[in-house]
Amino acid sequence: MRKVWIAFVLLVAAVIFVPAGPRAQWKTKWTYEGATGAEHWSELDPDWAACNAGKEQSPIDIRSAKKVELPAIRFEYKSGPLKYLINNGYTIRVNYHDAPGSGNFMIVGDKRYQLTQFHFHRPSEEYIHGKPYDMVAHFMHQSSDGKVAGVAVLLKAGSANATIQQLWEHMPMTKGDEQEIAGVEVNPAGLLPHDTAYYTYMGSVTAPPCTEGVTWFVLKAPMEVSMEEINAFAKLYPHDVRPIQPLNGRVVQETE
Ligand SMILES: [Zn+2]
Repeated sequence: MRKVWIAFVLLVAAVIFVPAGPRAQWKTKWTYEGATGAEHWSELDPDWAACNAGKEQSPIDIRSAKKVELPAIRFEYKSGPLKYLINNGYTIRVNYHDAPGSGNFMIVGDKRYQLTQFHFHRPSEEYIHGKPYDMVAHFMHQSSDGKVAGVAVLLKAGSANATIQQLWEHMPMTKGDEQEIAGVEVNPAGLLPHDTAYYTYMGSVTAPPCTEGVTWFVLKAPMEVSMEEINAFAKLYPHDVRPIQPLNGRVVQETE
């Protein structure tokens, strides 16, 4: 009887303590357009108030920037197994759950951030001088003291990109859980331009809960992806883009 009781307690504990985890990131349904679209995100969940009341939201249209002396960005991305590839119903995303950062880091000045995930938007959420690019890749990072930094790599139609090609070959065609793609190694550095000059400003994550305090680095040099690669993503997600948000007096800085 005692064994049964212990087993029961363990079972209850397991159910209670299984983390919701990134697999179920959003418990409330949202969309980019329509009744549950970007204009209504705050109404859908009290935790998403920043989406429509926040004053430092992303994305933005970068029309002017102040040239200042800024630290260079150094990327320490490397090849690793594709363990957490997901079609989450909004985009295709590669997660890195294995601490610390599965060995992928970004260093800005004396600050070190680990890569937590990267994903795509079509067209780019960021506008540069009033215009979006064909797509954008967002690399999200976190420092050991909890600061979040996003790197936007603008993508334009041109030659094919080998990293994208590799991801698209394995991307789940329907919304679902994370998938481990056995035997496949991906290097996120394959999506980075050589020239890492950037714009930077304080903003937010661009999907609910729209959390602010994100330092964005928008790389000036775009990367090329082929029209076929853009079209393959567009078949799944033709417009996974939040509208441009007001600057509200924020100043965008750019490297000299
Ligand atoms: Zn994004």
